[in-house]
Amino acid sequence: MSPMLIQGAAQAQQRPLLLGLLVMLVLLEWRLRPAAYDWRESAASTAVALGNLLIRPLTAALLVPLFAWASTHALFELPIRSPAAFVGLLLLVDLVYYGYHRASHRLHWLWATHSVHHSSTRFNLSAAYRLGWTDLLSGTWLWLLALVALGFPAPAVLGAFGMNLLYQFFIHTEAVGRLGWLEAVFNTPAHHRVHHASNAALRDRNFGGVLIVWDRLFGSFATAPADEPLRYGLAGIPRSDNPLQIVFGEWLRLIVAGRDFLGRRRSR
Ligand SMILES: [Zn+2]
Ligand SMILES: [Zn+2]
Repeated sequence: MSPMLIQGAAQAQQRPLLLGLLVMLVLLEWRLRPAAYDWRESAASTAVALGNLLIRPLTAALLVPLFAWASTHALFELPIRSPAAFVGLLLLVDLVYYGYHRASHRLHWLWATHSVHHSSTRFNLSAAYRLGWTDLLSGTWLWLLALVALGFPAPAVLGAFGMNLLYQFFIHTEAVGRLGWLEAVFNTPAHHRVHHASNAALRDRNFGGVLIVWDRLFGSFATAPADEPLRYGLAGIPRSDNPLQIVFGEWLRLIVAGRDFLGRRRSR
């Protein structure tokens, strides 16, 4: 894959055509499965997503010089010259995503941003783009910066990460049941429903991005119980449809409770 293509993939999420397609898929799912949607909640998710898009240029302006600096001071030179090398990077980014995601559920500082994604009480495609605005603070980018500092080209790392997130859009649905042997290897809607479930026995499970093998390897895999319906949203925290409350709610709860921001979160 050429660097141009990789760079293109990195920017794919911001392309109006792709965004339009994703919104159309949300509308289609809404039409076909109205019971899976609550318009107030989906409107709140859309407002949060628009805010996230508006903040991205600021995030990019601050991080581009940092990524450029890390590129010039990289430990090694690890060029991506073949499709096989890019597939290798995809796997590495997916493993890094697993680590970042697991840490996001463990530490208050990261959970404050990531909890936004878990705050929807309905599991549908519109919940996929309910993403926090405070990534810059929580340091999501640090995980990608580490790969660039190691020697991978920044456009390739960002491209692989963009593809990972795009894949994850499609697994936010209750419309797809079990997928046979694919469930052994890939993160599927069934696995991600468990990840979003707030049922006590299922919290903090299935952190994988594209592959579920990391959860199987590192002991965080779970399947849905046959006798208990899944409940979504933040356990013990009332639903809000106010975008500002959704985005900053967990930060406020941490401050009000006087919690150690760098402390370990207890969710069980
Ligand atoms: Zn999560
Ligand atoms: Zn999700």
